[in-house]
Amino acid sequence: MTRRADTPALAARVARVGASPVREILALTARPEVISFAGGLPAPELFDAAGLRASYDRVLAERPERVLQYSTTEGDPDLRAAVAARLTGRGLLTPGEDLLVTTGSQQALALVATALLEPGDTVLVEDPSYLAALQSFGFAGARVLPVPTDASGVDPAALAELVVRERPKLLYLVPTFQNPTGRTMPAARRREVAEVAERHGLWLVEDDPYGELRFEGEPEPWLAADPAVADRTVLLGSFSKVLAPGLRLGWLRAPAALRRACVIAKQAADLHTSTIDQAAAARYLADHDLDAHLATVRAAYRERRDALLAALPTALPAGSSWSRPAGGMFLWCRLPAGRNATELLRSAVAHDVAYVPGAPFYAGPADQATLRLSFTTHTPAEIAIGVDRLGKALGG
Ligand code: PMP
Repeated sequence: MTRRADTPALAARVARVGASPVREILALTARPEVISFAGGLPAPELFDAAGLRASYDRVLAERPERVLQYSTTEGDPDLRAAVAARLTGRGLLTPGEDLLVTTGSQQALALVATALLEPGDTVLVEDPSYLAALQSFGFAGARVLPVPTDASGVDPAALAELVVRERPKLLYLVPTFQNPTGRTMPAARRREVAEVAERHGLWLVEDDPYGELRFEGEPEPWLAADPAVADRTVLLGSFSKVLAPGLRLGWLRAPAALRRACVIAKQAADLHTSTIDQAAAARYLADHDLDAHLATVRAAYRERRDALLAALPTALPAGSSWSRPAGGMFLWCRLPAGRNATELLRSAVAHDVAYVPGAPFYAGPADQATLRLSFTTHTPAEIAIGVDRLGKALGG
């Protein structure tokens, strides 16, 4: 018998990311009777499956030799041109060459982390912030610190103080319909944040997967469009919430040197994003009216948000508060002090309703009374039933 030695251990960075108790409880919500406000999923019945199928058919019929072949890391020129035209149309002058197509905007986060961060570097994030961004920065070995926030986003005075004290390399923001809070930074607050980045030398990562899901009011300007920080802002976008997340298509708009570094990082990660998926998306944008499709999605989500907002006041315990998002997919809730949303999740699941506790979204100490509700995947009638169950589970 050969003696067998153990294999070397997993890298410390993976060992640090342990199993999550919340994930285990949420695994119990796959039952059809559960009304789940937990997932961050777009409504599947609104996917334009026929339109996408036609686009795939067309690129496969017309250019099989191209769309089934390896391609360039930067991405399909037609897709980059189409995205660039949409950005330019909304006031952010963008040549197609300034864009890198990514495998979802999640990959863009990983590429930016690889291109910018040394282990031990400091990253500032909103408190709370998008969970998987915290993970990406954590995997890069960064020290992730929360910036205090109010209803308008990061507090500029607290931000300036942290920047001076902690010398961070970048600030990660989801300024519009943030995940998890649904909150949007007004233009004046964006200006104040830009000023801090300009004065102290700081990269800004502006992650905007939800901006096109606005139900009311006027769009706020992108930080990337502020001339003071144009040379230090990376804008991330995604087709996940406007078309379908299964496409895994996103993009990154960055100053040239950083974009080139991201291209090299992407070569090592996956050579390039799926050729056929990029070609089909470009075809879709040329043959279909994405804005008309988005109008349908927005109308449905708005109705669902309204159903959630209408049901919460009578269902949630007295003393609860919640955000009123003007778009996106999420609403953020704070239960009366002393309640623990992580502990209450088990009771919710027993009542056939689910949410995500707020705790994992905090880079620092968590507010245990918070939770995130997604309003996208159920009809208004189901939402009303779900909120009623939630009220019973949380003890009224
Ligand atoms: N950023 C934010 C803020 C998100 O909420 C998400 C998805 N939930 C992503 C990035 C990643 O999206 P995708 O990779 O599908 O583009």
